[in-house]
Amino acid sequence: MSSITEKDHQYVWHPFTHLKYAEVPVQIVRGEGAFFYDADGNKLLDSISSWWVNLHGHCHPYISQKVSEQLHTLEHAIFSSFTHEPAVKLAERLIGHLPKNQSKIFYSDNGSTAVEVGLKMVLQYWYNQGITKKKFIAFENAYHGDTFGGMSVGARNVFNNAFENLLFDVIHIPLPDAENIDQLKDTLQNWFTNHKHIAGFIFEPLVQGAAGMQIYEAQYLDELISICQEHKVVCIADEVMTGFGRTGEFFASNYLTNKPDIICLSKGLTGGYMPLGVTSCAQFIYDSCVSHDKTKTFFHGHSYTANSTACSAALASLDLMEKEETWTQIRLISQLNQGFVSKHQKHKALKDMRSKGTILALEINTEEHTHYLNNASESIASYFLKNGIIVRPLGNILYIIPPYCITETELKQVFEVIERFLDQL
Ligand SMILES: *Cc1c(COP(=O)(O)O)cnc(C)c1O
Repeated sequence: MSSITEKDHQYVWHPFTHLKYAEVPVQIVRGEGAFFYDADGNKLLDSISSWWVNLHGHCHPYISQKVSEQLHTLEHAIFSSFTHEPAVKLAERLIGHLPKNQSKIFYSDNGSTAVEVGLKMVLQYWYNQGITKKKFIAFENAYHGDTFGGMSVGARNVFNNAFENLLFDVIHIPLPDAENIDQLKDTLQNWFTNHKHIAGFIFEPLVQGAAGMQIYEAQYLDELISICQEHKVVCIADEVMTGFGRTGEFFASNYLTNKPDIICLSKGLTGGYMPLGVTSCAQFIYDSCVSHDKTKTFFHGHSYTANSTACSAALASLDLMEKEETWTQIRLISQLNQGFVSKHQKHKALKDMRSKGTILALEINTEEHTHYLNNASESIASYFLKNGIIVRPLGNILYIIPPYCITETELKQVFEVIERFLDQL
């Protein structure tokens, strides 16, 4: 152990970390492109974009330059009664990329708060009209963050057992597929006609991230959104993970015909540089809070709301997102993933393998069932680390979600290590 990892052990409590059995954390000293360098001088490929946030590589010269300029101009400013150019420009440009029905941007600090704001907007929308609707529908196995609202709409599992009685009641429905779609539609129709208290529907469009990169089809989600919108049930797309090209389109909502009323963004928003959350909404949600009555104000905010440095990182990341080279890379990664899936789908070590855009997930056969606490996780991670690749499996589900700057050669090296790993199982 180095002095840093010793002090880390003495003073730091890490997130999602088993405090008894966790290995000594790897000390990262530098990042460049798709790589990290650790304190022992090892070069490690960050195949998971540092918890799905990094888009263009570490210490990207352009973003670093823009952030640095911003730091010498305006590092942060209170965002109530005051405004600044980075937040306004970012809002304008995001609205330009989001589905056409989105018209306002509300800032917060991370994915959980972006979701929390979305849920509160829905509740405030009904409250301001004097209508009692408080119930949400969400998908089974969903993950929407670690705050109480986020946990409530998320699956009840090991992440929130200790808080179970304090979470509000949510109706969880299975992901739609060819087999259950008709029944699901009937169920929703029935609820909406007989129980008038359903306020909103929240979902991770097309890919459920933390559930193990579970992929489902846009067509069926579209059908569910359509019924919700017919009955004025407000639809929230949690695009915290799927946003900014991850699924092969700018937003996963681009695959949908029926556009969500509210969209939550975070992870890739600043290119992985700074924490920032965004909740966008359709005009009718915003309008419900425009009133002579001061009690109808949307009372939500954070000290660091719309932090100007974070907004400048997001603007720089958007500049890169708008470049053709980035989309060439996104298409290349998506194609290579697809090729890998076709080649190895039937591998005996696998229960399943799937990909959507730049996301590739492999469900490894283990004696234990597929589960977040599956013990395979640690041994998979350490195999890859020994081979110079950073992964962080969700139990026995190994996935990669690389930064877009990864080269074809580097991605193929990752594939080779995956092949070797599967063959030795
Ligand atoms: C990561 C994630 C969140 C929570 O975001 P944080 O920034 O970690 O709070 C919410 N929803 C989805 C879909 C996510 O993947």
